[in-house]
Amino acid sequence: MLIPKYLEEISEVIDTSKNIEVAKIKCKCSHGHFLVYEFFETDNVNIKSGFNEIIRENDKLYLVKRNFFGKIVKKIECGNMFERKQRRIIKVICEKCGKEYTLFDNYKHGYDAVIAQQESYTLKEKITFDFKQVYPQPIEVYVKIYQDISYDQFKDEFKSIDYNGYLNSFCNIDIYGINSKSRKIKICSEETA
Ligand SMILES: [Zn+2]
Repeated sequence: MLIPKYLEEISEVIDTSKNIEVAKIKCKCSHGHFLVYEFFETDNVNIKSGFNEIIRENDKLYLVKRNFFGKIVKKIECGNMFERKQRRIIKVICEKCGKEYTLFDNYKHGYDAVIAQQESYTLKEKITFDFKQVYPQPIEVYVKIYQDISYDQFKDEFKSIDYNGYLNSFCNIDIYGINSKSRKIKICSEETA
C-alpha cells in the first residue's frame, strides 16, 4: 500500500509493486470522470531578469548572475529549498455530483512537505488560488505514486511520524488523465524529495 492517506477514500488501486502504485480516482458518488484544475505559482525568483542559475553553497540556495567568462558577478540568497518551491495544486471536480478533491498540493503532500512541516505553510493558506482548467472535458484521472523507502527505514529516521505520515511522504507523484478517445493527458509530474 503506497497510496497516500488523503487519497485513500477516492482511490481504486489498479497496479501495485514494491515502489510504485497506480490508482484510478473515483468520486464518493462512484463516478469516475472529473474536470481537472491546476494552480501553479508563476511569480518565481528564477525569472528575475539577468539571473538564470541557482547554486547551492553551504546548504543555502543562491540566485546568481554570471558574466561572459562564467564568473559570478551577482548573488542573491533565495532562502531554503522549500521556500523556493513554486506552489502547485491539482484539484478535480466530479462531473456528476460536483464534489471537489485536492489530488496534490506540494506544500502539504510529498516528502519535503511532510518532513519540513514549516510554519510558513499555514500563512500561505489564506491565498485565494487562481485555478486554471487543465483539460476542457471531464476525463478519467489516475495517480501514480513512487516511494523509495520502506516504512521500516522511514521509522528509523523519523520516529515521530506515523504510518499515515509515511504514506503522505511519497517521493514522486504523476497525475494523468485518459480522455474519451483513450488518449493520455499529462496533468502533473513532480518530485517531492
Ligand atoms: Zn461525484
